[in-house]
Amino acid sequence: MTPLYNYIQRLSNTMGVSGYEDQVLQAVGSILSSHSVPFTYDSFGNLLVQLGDDHSEEKRLICAHSDEVGIQVQKVEYPFVWFRTFGSLRKAEMVGSHIIFENGAVGVVEQHNIGSSASFVVRLSQPTPLPRVAMTGTFATRCSIDEDTIKGKALDNRAGCAILLAIILDLFDAQPESSLLFAFTREEEIGGRGIQHLSYAHSFYQVVSIDATPVVDDNNVVLGGGPCIKVSDGSSISDRALVAHVAKLARKHSIPYQLEVNELGFSESAFPSLVSGAKCATISYPIVGMHSACSRVSVSDVKNTVEIIKHYCSEPVFNVY
Ligand SMILES: [Zn+2]
Repeated sequence: MTPLYNYIQRLSNTMGVSGYEDQVLQAVGSILSSHSVPFTYDSFGNLLVQLGDDHSEEKRLICAHSDEVGIQVQKVEYPFVWFRTFGSLRKAEMVGSHIIFENGAVGVVEQHNIGSSASFVVRLSQPTPLPRVAMTGTFATRCSIDEDTIKGKALDNRAGCAILLAIILDLFDAQPESSLLFAFTREEEIGGRGIQHLSYAHSFYQVVSIDATPVVDDNNVVLGGGPCIKVSDGSSISDRALVAHVAKLARKHSIPYQLEVNELGFSESAFPSLVSGAKCATISYPIVGMHSACSRVSVSDVKNTVEIIKHYCSEPVFNVY
């Protein structure tokens, strides 16, 4: 198995609900340290890697969010656990899903009826260990990879974090002259809080965010069709020149790509464009079953997403306009 897929598996299996991403960022940090890549944390806790001139006016940000949707314990009365959700998760759609809590307690989501009112709970499989109030939990699925498909929980956006890692490790050896800040951001699933902090703390010339994009009936995105260059979604309209530039790079290097137009959805790159006028776009990999117990992404899409962004980072910034 190549390092990229090792990273995806390791990060997918790591727990990191929004606001509680520390284990994920520690795993990212240990991989960077093992390759002698220096990194820092900003005051919000985003993990940052700077390559090239830190003070350039043409600073580019390439970011991927490190958090995942999940739950947090509100009340425990064995065998039931009441919980709140973080991010876009519908409790009714979680029924039947296996959940694991921070202390290793496991259970299954079910509908719980008391009189005429219904709520959703996790039914624990055994009395010990017992989760405590405020503990977070995630889907218990373990990541697996076969042929061209990766399956697991939190592939939105742990595959994106693995892609960002692969790009950093490759470019670190090449020591690019361009000013590139790479960020593993926090709390995207609850409103892009990490990227908001970054947007106010820095002034960027361009921003590319890496994320998963859902394969749904009303867009043309298909699994295995190549990285998606986002044109627009519910929160952002990508810079047209930047979209055209990335698409041209893909054609030049014979990388398949898809243009993505989504009515809904959210992109981290929306914030830097609002705050400082940065030229922004999102490059994503298609995902089936986003925010579910077991999502699927394509190995070739992930590999091609690394390639397209690596070429983007290696090109001088002034080529865009
Ligand atoms: Zn995402």
